[in-house]
Amino acid sequence: MSSSPPRYKRAILKLSGEALREPGSTDNISPEIVERIAREVREALAPGDVQLGIVVGGGNFWRGASASARGMDRATADYVGMLATVMNSLALQGSLEHHGVPCVVQSAIEMKNVAETFIRRKAERHLNEGRVVIFAAGTGSPFFSTDTTAALRASEMSANVVFKATMVDGVYDSDPKKNPNAKKFSRVSFHDCISKQFKVMDATAFSLCMDNHIPIVIFDLGEVGNITRALRGESIGTLVNGEETVAA
Ligand code: UDP
Repeated sequence: MSSSPPRYKRAILKLSGEALREPGSTDNISPEIVERIAREVREALAPGDVQLGIVVGGGNFWRGASASARGMDRATADYVGMLATVMNSLALQGSLEHHGVPCVVQSAIEMKNVAETFIRRKAERHLNEGRVVIFAAGTGSPFFSTDTTAALRASEMSANVVFKATMVDGVYDSDPKKNPNAKKFSRVSFHDCISKQFKVMDATAFSLCMDNHIPIVIFDLGEVGNITRALRGESIGTLVNGEETVAA
């Protein structure tokens, strides 16, 4: 019996900030890359059967941990990082709207002139009414990451999946950039991700998704069409869930 690919009613897409920057460019945000992502999101949502929340990172501008390692107070550095995610969120909102995708930015740090404040029940209504919600400013608290934000928003919005679109095409047993023999997994258990400390997401994000039974799909944002493939339920990258680990 052939099984149809899984469809997700409500998804959270995590975009790493770094992926919005053109490699080698001094511009933190590439308008062309943002446009490309917006076009893909429009295509992916065209069938009208998926509700989408997006969490954007801020690593193309700033990472709190790196600034703190260079002497800055960690909490202050993290607030700077959260504000960076708001810039990325506004850029993405502009492009999505340009492509006809109705879209709202909700910020975890109040910033009334540029974004709604995050209110779960309002976000719920936006999603039900077919608007994309971009969750900006992370969790609103220092010492967290935007991966954890994606896991948190997925949990509180009862999403069926977290898509982590990043610079690698899945989870490997070691860094594929350093080790040419690194082995990729098609599926990996939450338990292995946490106990073997796979660096592709932080342990808090994995634990939240594990506790709330939300699978994570990790895939390469650089490959055109991957957002559409992921949202349509095709199997790409690495699936992280409660089942056992399988090599690709
Ligand atoms: N950040 C934070 N709390 C959050 C989310 C993010 O303090 O809930 C800060 C933290 O300093 C982080 C920065 O925002 O380094 C940018 O987010 P992240 O590193 O997750 O971005 P990405 O690597 O996905 O681009």
